[in-house]
Order: sequence, then structure tokens, then C-alpha cells
Amino acid sequence: MSYANEVFERVVKENPGELEFHQAVKEVLSTLEPIVSKYEKEYKEAGLLERLVEPERIISFRVPWVDDKGQVQVNKGYRIQFNSAIGPYKGGIRLHPSVNQGILKFLGFEQVFKNSLTGLPMGGGKGGSNFDPKGKSDNEVMRFCQSFMNELYRHIGADTDVPAGDIGTGAREVGYFFGQYKRLTGLYEGVLTGKGLAFGGSLARKEATGYGVVYIAAEMLNGVGGDVAGKKVGISGSGNVAIYCAEKFKELGAKVVTVSDSNGYIYDENGINIDAVKEIKEVKRGRIKDYTNYVKSAKYVENEKPWVESMDIAAPCATQNEVDEKYANLMVKNGVKLIAEGANMPLTNEAVKIVQDNTILYMPGKAANAGGVSVSGLEMSQNSLRLSWTFEEVDERLKGIMKNIYKQVTETAEEFGRKGDFVTGANIAGFKKVATAMIAQGV
Ligand code: GLU
Repeated sequence: MSYANEVFERVVKENPGELEFHQAVKEVLSTLEPIVSKYEKEYKEAGLLERLVEPERIISFRVPWVDDKGQVQVNKGYRIQFNSAIGPYKGGIRLHPSVNQGILKFLGFEQVFKNSLTGLPMGGGKGGSNFDPKGKSDNEVMRFCQSFMNELYRHIGADTDVPAGDIGTGAREVGYFFGQYKRLTGLYEGVLTGKGLAFGGSLARKEATGYGVVYIAAEMLNGVGGDVAGKKVGISGSGNVAIYCAEKFKELGAKVVTVSDSNGYIYDENGINIDAVKEIKEVKRGRIKDYTNYVKSAKYVENEKPWVESMDIAAPCATQNEVDEKYANLMVKNGVKLIAEGANMPLTNEAVKIVQDNTILYMPGKAANAGGVSVSGLEMSQNSLRLSWTFEEVDERLKGIMKNIYKQVTETAEEFGRKGDFVTGANIAGFKKVATAMIAQGV
């Protein structure tokens, strides 16, 4: 059995029930073979892969808070500090009822490679809670965030671990986290990213993940002599990533025809009205179904995903495993030529195989959605410098980072004899830097 396989089997055995974590580890380890076989003796001796799949630290805690009726509620809180070889732990905080330790470990593991690909000095981490912000008042969300930070503050810091947004955590939650951190420590420092613009946030952070998906899709098309203009695009999700992905695709002349949420999807053949989605999601915190109140001619399909429609480009921006074999086959059938993942691990490993076998250009999330954490890295830089850059300046840097990620991914794939396989390219390129740092720093 290969070294990578041995380590994978050990992960399954030692982390029972953590299915998403197994899946993420399998996806990475199964593609590292070309580099692991080259340096096997050195890596084995250093226990490198064993260390890579084990988080440096898992913090788990109780989050009690009082709801508007005066009832005490209790949630689970976590921070996974996965790998700090190349910088302070960095990654979002997910607030969603599905959150558990296994899901956060998969996300933290992905983050290690993603952050490495950005070229910025950031290690990998992830946190979250099974708290559901949906339907909660602002005051309830504030009390939850304060209680979460009452535990977390002692484990984070601008040079230690820098959390940010993710599903369920946006500017509102980051604001409450930051306020409580400052109250408890007395420190006004860049301990969180995705902050409001009035207190150290970066321009273009909100747009960064979605814009980055489009910048890398444009690079992928350019690589085959194509162009974004005129393409029909299907997007899933209607959160921060989906909205700004749609906005940039539209700006570059593509037509975005779908958005969705966990209840169903919208199809608008005239192109999604992004202002309407922003109002529904960012202002009213409503459901995507309400889109038909803004655009009467649009179709809403309950309990279905956008992938049943025909499109040239698919950008899954909702959540993990939203595209299984059935939907991957539908994408092939419906003419998808390019997939760029806005979400983390939206395709199952089986779905990835189907789209790659059918020569769809496929960019995995750890490369395609790295724009968000990249601008988080730029927010950290601005906070350290005590400066704010203009929107254009940040956007230019973001474009440069996404271009560079594409270059690293394609060149690494080619170097290791897997031309066009962006999964292998992204995993090896991300891994190489982390591996070098881990070995140099000793056990
Ligand atoms: N949650 C985002 C991600 O999955 C952003 C993390 C960050 O900005 O630190 O990459």
C-alpha cells in the first residue's frame, strides 16, 4: 500500500464518523502521489503526511446565550487550528445547524492548501457553531456572538489566529465578534477580517470571493482561447459568494440565469437581476423564492437545483456536496464546459471524476474561491500598516493573486505529468510550500 493510502486508512480509522473530513483528505492525498513518490523517504521519516492530516489543536466549547424570550439556549462552539507552518491560522467561522467537528476539520484542512496557494503568509484554520442565525433577531445574534467570543478570545490574535466570515457569518457577526474581543482584551488589532469599513475592514473584501471565481474562470477560458463574454452561467447559492460572482460575470458580458437557496432555484432567462437578490438577501434576509415578486417572468423551482438547466459555465457557490453523481451527469448532458467552485468542496469525489472524465474544465474550490481569503490577507496587511487601500488597488491585487494561482495550478499539473488536471495541480502546489515549511521547522 502506498504511503498516502496508509495515512488515509489511518484517518478513517482514527476519526470515525467524520465523513466530510475523510472525503477532503482522500481528495488531497489521492493526488499527491506524484510528489510523495519523489520524496517518499524524506516525508515518511518526517511523519509528514501523518502530521498534515492531524490538526495542531481543536478547541471546543459551550456557547450559552439568552434568547429574546429570556430562555437560555446552548450551542456548540469550535475552532480548528489546523496548520500554522506558513503563517497564523486563518479561516472563517461557519454558523449553520449542520456544523460539527468533522465538517470544520474538512474546512480547516482545505484552508491549509487554499491559503498556501494565495502566496500570502497564512496558515489554515476554521471555526464555527451549530447556531442558526436564520430567524434570530439582531440582539439574539449579538448575544450569541459575544458568548462565542467569551471563550474564543484567549485562543486568537492578529499574529496567532485570525477568524473571518463564512456561511452564516457576515459583516454583522464579525462586528459583534470584534466588539467583544476588544472589550475583553483591550486590543484594537486586526484579529478578524471581513470587518466593517468604519473599523478596519478592507474595501473589496465583500466582493472578493465571488469576483475571484470569475477572474480564475476567465483565466481558464483564456487558456483554451475562449472568453467569458456571451456565456450562459448557472450559479447556485444566493449568499455573499453567489451575489458577487454573478455581479462580475455580468460585468464581463456573461448572462447569469440561476441562483438558489436550500429550498429551490430561480431561473431568469433575461439574466438575474442582481440588485433584487441583494435586497432579498443582504437587506431583508429573506428566501430566494421572493425573487418572483421582483421579476414576475422568472421561474422558481422548489426542491431542485440549477443543474437541471442548460448552461456553459457552472459556478456552485452554495455548500459542500451540493453536486453528486446525478447532478454531475446532468451538467455533462446540459452542455457545461467549465466549472469553477465558489463553495468549499461542492462536488463529491465521484462527481469530480465524472466531470474530469468528460473533459469539463474544472477548478476546485481551494483555488477558485481563494479570492476571499486572499483579500482577508490584504486586510491583515492594511491593519498592520494602519492604512486603507482603495477599491481599485485591492481589486488589482486580487486579480494578480488569482492569475498567479491559475499559473501555479496549471504549471504544477504539467510539471507532474497531469496537464489539465487542476485538482492535482492545486493540491500539489498548495502542499509543496506547507511541506517545505513543516520540514524546515522540525517536529
Ligand atoms: N470562509 C472563507 C473561505 O472559505 C474566507 C476565510 C477568510 O477570509 O479567512 O476561504
